[in-house]
Amino acid sequence: MEIEYDGGIHIKGTDLWLDAEVGKDFCFISHAHIDHAAKHKRILASPQTAKFYHHRLGETETKILKFNKPAKIRGAKVELFPSGHILGASQILVEKGGVRLVYTGDFKLRRCLTAEKIEVKKCDILIMESTFGLPNYVFPPRKEVVKKLTSFVKKTLSKGQTPVILAYSLGKAQEAMKILGNFGFKLSVHSSILKLTSVYQQFGVKFKNCYRYYSKELKGKVLLAPPWLKNSKLIENIPKKKIAMLTGWALDPGAKESYGTDEVIPLSDHADFSELIEYVKVASPQKIYTLHGFPEFASHLKDLGYDAERLRTTKTPYRLNKELLLNYDLFKVL
Ligand SMILES: [Zn+2]
Repeated sequence: MEIEYDGGIHIKGTDLWLDAEVGKDFCFISHAHIDHAAKHKRILASPQTAKFYHHRLGETETKILKFNKPAKIRGAKVELFPSGHILGASQILVEKGGVRLVYTGDFKLRRCLTAEKIEVKKCDILIMESTFGLPNYVFPPRKEVVKKLTSFVKKTLSKGQTPVILAYSLGKAQEAMKILGNFGFKLSVHSSILKLTSVYQQFGVKFKNCYRYYSKELKGKVLLAPPWLKNSKLIENIPKKKIAMLTGWALDPGAKESYGTDEVIPLSDHADFSELIEYVKVASPQKIYTLHGFPEFASHLKDLGYDAERLRTTKTPYRLNKELLLNYDLFKVL
């Protein structure tokens, strides 16, 4: 069996792509962040991801699969299960001939308020993200991160200033809304975030103390905006403010300077280094392919005794080990 990674993951000899970056006939969408979702002819996705996808990229033919409801798709058993990344974010298990392949998409093990609890399934072949795959990326406990965020907001408000929280409009922003709204802070939320929040609400996630942004009604509120608005007139025109960016890259030395904000807070939707390793231990695969993030992560896994390599964009297909090659027809009929 051969895997190729060329603008997306493709099991050679099949027509199923995983998170392809360019249009395909049939593609699994792990979640609707833009780096994982191109416009395809037909998609396979969880109900939540399908909604976000249609919201962002328009209607398309869709095979919806709920979590943990296996389906036969062109001869193989396919199952989606939660990745804990954002609402509806999904991993995929493809099983045939006794061989199990899991592709994680983006994931995290830590619990949060707006995504499903992750599940980890045993598999033979694991294709995993490795965004924070260096040992120095270990996030502080969630309690500390939440404290840092709420203290920043409290302190800024107490000085009569407006706290501006920059957070990606899908996932991070809703998590911040939930954390701060539950604490009793009043939020003024940019419309780009509210549009996606309506999908959360359709799936039963409730938000307190959140209001549509109006420049004249900002006093005493926290402004929640996507990072691309940082240098906009909307934010520039707020007279007294302090800006914080929510990102896992907050752990980098000099992050405040590089984001140009007053504060950086390591609230992340990705696994940190220790979670990546923990995931591998539980899944106990025979073969691991890593993608995204640091290439060194595959070497760390090798040091731990795993057969691991990084997926690179290449025309040369990757060959799986002999044992798995016995099941070379695994995905042919997908
Ligand atoms: Zn993502």
